[in-house]
Amino acid sequence: MYVIKLKTILCYVLIFATIISAAKICEGISDARAVTAEAEEGSVALPILMYHSVCEKAGKAAKFIVSEQDLRADFEYIKNSGYTTVSSAELIDFAENGTPLPEKPIMITFDDGYYNNYKIAFPLLKEYNMKAVISIIGRYTDLYSENNEEDVSYSHITWNEAQEMIDSGLVEIQNHSYNSHTTDKGRNGTKKKKGESEAAYAEYIYSDIGKLQDEINQHLGYRPELFAYPFGSVCEASYEPLKQLGFKVTLSCEEKVNHIKPGDKDGLYMLGRYLRPHSRSAEKILKKAE
Ligand SMILES: [Zn+2]
Repeated sequence: MYVIKLKTILCYVLIFATIISAAKICEGISDARAVTAEAEEGSVALPILMYHSVCEKAGKAAKFIVSEQDLRADFEYIKNSGYTTVSSAELIDFAENGTPLPEKPIMITFDDGYYNNYKIAFPLLKEYNMKAVISIIGRYTDLYSENNEEDVSYSHITWNEAQEMIDSGLVEIQNHSYNSHTTDKGRNGTKKKKGESEAAYAEYIYSDIGKLQDEINQHLGYRPELFAYPFGSVCEASYEPLKQLGFKVTLSCEEKVNHIKPGDKDGLYMLGRYLRPHSRSAEKILKKAE
């Protein structure tokens, strides 16, 4: 009888201990869930639009040209649907220090640094008080700073125009390579060549993309922290040398909405972008992406 009672007590103790430890495990799980939910809560959706040239030659088939009217319609939609344009400096501040971004952030980017970005897009940016990133090809900024040709269909911005746009506080001038915006030098943009060693490739990155870092520093007084891959030709071998050059944000051409989080500095690499051709408005792109 006595033995049975002891066994019963022992059994109760065991059941009690099991309940306690199960509760602790559950507590652990719910803690983990809370952390995950918090992290997801802190994550911000960021669509990025990619433009190139802005001029009246935008035809139906134009992939890389929009008209002034196209751009104005896009800006109207962006403004009226509650988006706020952000700079890469704000993205970095968010990822590094948790400085909040505005509600519904969006990034507007122009690749190649066409003169029409200065002549046509810049006045619109001022009118709508919107920010944009212009990623220049160093070789062309040098060339047009020399020859002063101002043709809205093919010229590129000069160092003086770049400075004027930066001074507005609305435009960031960033890096799109010095002389690698081509596929006819045995390389697809800034991509690693077949059979090229990692060391030789890193050297190439330092010499070409690094050259534009130096030039921007010389002409505009800072070293860019954003690199836009020419043609979206990305490759893993570029990650480390680009980090070494001081880049904290890189832009690909993969069409997706980005989700960025405070503390996740690496989350700013390889951000996706939506190409905005003449035939597909920002409204269409963003409604589909939302
Ligand atoms: Zn480009």
